[in-house]
Amino acid sequence: MSRWPGNALRERTTFGGLSRGELMSRVRSTGNETTEKRLVSLLRAAGLSGWRRHQPLSGRPDFVWQKIKVVVFVDGCFWHGHDCGRNVTPRTNAKEWREKIEANQARDRKTNRLLRQEGWKVIRIWECQLAKNPSRCVARLRKATEDGKPMVRKSERDRYGSLE
Ligand SMILES: [Zn+2]
Repeated sequence: MSRWPGNALRERTTFGGLSRGELMSRVRSTGNETTEKRLVSLLRAAGLSGWRRHQPLSGRPDFVWQKIKVVVFVDGCFWHGHDCGRNVTPRTNAKEWREKIEANQARDRKTNRLLRQEGWKVIRIWECQLAKNPSRCVARLRKATEDGKPMVRKSERDRYGSLE
C-alpha cells in the first residue's frame, strides 16, 4: 500500500510521538462511539433528521437514511489507515498492525462497492475531518440527503479524496 512507507519516519519514534495512552485511546476508538455521538449532536443541531443507526446493512454503517438510500460511515483514522498523521503505526508488531489496517481498508472498499451496487449513496467521514471541520461534514451530509437520490458513481473519490 502506497500510503504506508511514508510513515517509516514516524515509526522510528515511539508510537509516532504519541504517549502510550494517546495511542491506546486511538486504538480503542474502533467503535467510534465518541465520534458517532459527536455527529449525532451535530446532525440534531443542524436539523437533519430521518436517520437511524446501526441498521443491518453491509459494513454496518453508522447512520442510515433508509428512504433516500444514504449511508454514512464515520471512520477512525487509525483503524482505517487515514494518511493524516493520526494513524501512526505502533513500533512493536508493526507488520501485524499494517496487515490489520490494510485488511480494514480492503474491507471498506468492498463494503462501498456492495452498497453502491445496491443503490446506496455511501458517505465516509474521517474522524479527523469531523474534529477539524464539523460544519463541512454537516454540509456534505445535508447535500447528500437533500439530493434524495442515489448519486452517480463517484468511484473512490469520496473515500480517499481531496478532503484533507
Ligand atoms: Zn484522519
